[in-house]
Amino acid sequence: MEEKLNFYKKILDDKSFYGNNNFVIDNIETIFSLVRYIGTKYRFICDDKYIKKHDYKEILLDESISLAQNFFNEHSISINVEDLIKNNILVFNNSEKRVDPFYNFKASGVSYYEENLKKINVDLEYNLFDSMIIIHEIMHYLNQPDNDRNINNHLLTEALSFGVEAIYIDSKIDTEYKNDAIDSLNNLARSNYMQMNIGYDLYKIIYLYKEKKDITKSAYDEMFSDDNYERMIDNFDKYILTKKTIFNYTWNVLGYPLAVYLYEEYKENNHFIKNILEFNKSLFDNDFNFSLKVIGLDNLSMTKEKIEKSTELFIERIKELNKNIITGEKRWKY
Ligand SMILES: [Zn+2]
Repeated sequence: MEEKLNFYKKILDDKSFYGNNNFVIDNIETIFSLVRYIGTKYRFICDDKYIKKHDYKEILLDESISLAQNFFNEHSISINVEDLIKNNILVFNNSEKRVDPFYNFKASGVSYYEENLKKINVDLEYNLFDSMIIIHEIMHYLNQPDNDRNINNHLLTEALSFGVEAIYIDSKIDTEYKNDAIDSLNNLARSNYMQMNIGYDLYKIIYLYKEKKDITKSAYDEMFSDDNYERMIDNFDKYILTKKTIFNYTWNVLGYPLAVYLYEEYKENNHFIKNILEFNKSLFDNDFNFSLKVIGLDNLSMTKEKIEKSTELFIERIKELNKNIITGEKRWKY
């Protein structure tokens, strides 16, 4: 055990684990308390009644492209999807979807940038997912600097993409895609839960190490009053195997609750889309606090109240929407 803990300490001392910047360490207390709050709040989504019970309606690619294009037009986002396709920036694949080994679920759509090419790859499902993923990835594309992403841009681009994606999904609730839209919002809630549930132990060990300079059971007991020490160690163990940096994890941890915040602000006042587009532009600069300010948030530690409010609203909305979902035969096998 001692050997193992020493190995962990070596990782926790390694700057590359934090993406070679101090963001996580400097904000660990705030991040830890955010993760704990969000993880607890979304626990309800594990209930069977929020698990998909119907087939998604089929949508052909041409239709998905026009759904995405119409959405961009409606919100005056100047993007021409056909042009991106023509210029080989947006590429579609029919390959089998990857299963993420760490989360053990099928990615609902995978796309990525190839270095310097800003290439968007979308794996097709021929249903509502396709237009969602096209919109999500194009929102990333819109704030991709010519070279590397900066720290701010890394940390907040998921918030933007998931937030705009949620706004798009919402616009499909009063359509023939109602069930699929509600289910997709359920997925946003589920992602909030899953990310925080795992992240909880990762940030916990970082927080523990920062405060106590140690990660032994006795150091843990001085700081936390639960008996989840073993679980923390096990989850850290699993995470190390992914070889991902904790900085990499953090953009999802910030991204999901902030996406919910952007969505709820938009629901309250549609003019908020202007702030969202301004937020997109701000991501070219490496100024985290300024980007937050554009969407009505002060610095990270001051956002708690607003995040809590939007989380409550979103959870209420999810519960209400699910009362109206029409259930058919069961399709999903976990
Ligand atoms: Zn993304």
